[in-house]
Amino acid sequence: MEIDNIECVSTSDGGIEDEEIHQSSVSTHNPSVVMQQHHHPPHGPPHLHHQYASSKPHHANIVSSGIGPTSVHELLECPVCTNSMYPPIHQCHNGHTLCSTCKTRVHNRCPTCRQELGDIRCLALEKVAESLELPCKYYSLGCPEIFPYYSKLKHEALCNFRPYNCPYAGSECAVTGDIPYLVAHLRDDHKVDMHTGCTFNHRYVKSNPREVENATWMLTVFHCFGQYFCLHFEAFQLGMAPVYMAFLRFMGDENEARNYSYSLEVGANGRKLIWEGTPRSIRDSHRKVRDSHDGLIIQRNMALFFSGGDRKELKLRVTGRIWKEQQNPDAGVCIPNLCS
Ligand SMILES: [Zn+2]
Ligand SMILES: [Zn+2]
Ligand SMILES: [Zn+2]
Ligand SMILES: [Zn+2]
Repeated sequence: MEIDNIECVSTSDGGIEDEEIHQSSVSTHNPSVVMQQHHHPPHGPPHLHHQYASSKPHHANIVSSGIGPTSVHELLECPVCTNSMYPPIHQCHNGHTLCSTCKTRVHNRCPTCRQELGDIRCLALEKVAESLELPCKYYSLGCPEIFPYYSKLKHEALCNFRPYNCPYAGSECAVTGDIPYLVAHLRDDHKVDMHTGCTFNHRYVKSNPREVENATWMLTVFHCFGQYFCLHFEAFQLGMAPVYMAFLRFMGDENEARNYSYSLEVGANGRKLIWEGTPRSIRDSHRKVRDSHDGLIIQRNMALFFSGGDRKELKLRVTGRIWKEQQNPDAGVCIPNLCS
């Protein structure tokens, strides 16, 4: 089955900024978000700030049963930002405590008693904070793990339940979620082309290729083998040379991505470029994949040659195929949180 004559007209706002890549799903989340839930009914549903649609809380009762009485958490609540405090915890001469983030903001004045703050640690409270075990902050997304604070931070950076960033690269998008949620988001909000099948045949057309220095032209999503794949096609400067690049990303984790391979072909007039590779996980940012040159790269001159005609118009036909690798059927089986 061929999907032919898809004209991928570039969008005018397709510029790629360095900042567009979000790897901030971990760092922008407040690490103490779980502990703050004692502001809410103690055994009620946890209050998390994820933009999330399709995952159900499986372990909502872990917090109330897994950590100590509420009073300890009140003790550990920073009076300024109300986040839970973790070492280093600071205090003033009068014993008012403060988290380290707030300490840098209060200009050496205790926010409680207005006295000079100094540089006093509160070791006893730090020990209390370290002794607490906390659920992974993605527990509402299904992660059953409970950790002491520092291992929890380490785990959360790699937790298999952490949400994915939106793989769309043409604009800033802060949406995160699981794969079904992001597929719907790409289709509905980014108007991305969706295709079913593991072969494709796309024609990328651009009337003035010399205008294109940095542009995300096209994202197409393919659905095959019960999985989703993002085919990116775009233009950028590689050193001094303007190039076009096509590559595939897998909507899922890296260890699952390794179960698949793909090929891309472009050519005309008796010449052909072929790329064969493994799709990268969308855990790797679009920018990271691009900068590692892990895809089919076509020099602009060659692309114009492939386009034929008067070299005024870019008309690239890219064909490709996705297949499942057979030799290691267990490689993609990963028990959550036991492999990283
Ligand atoms: Zn604070
Ligand atoms: Zn004070
Ligand atoms: Zn986790
Ligand atoms: Zn998005």
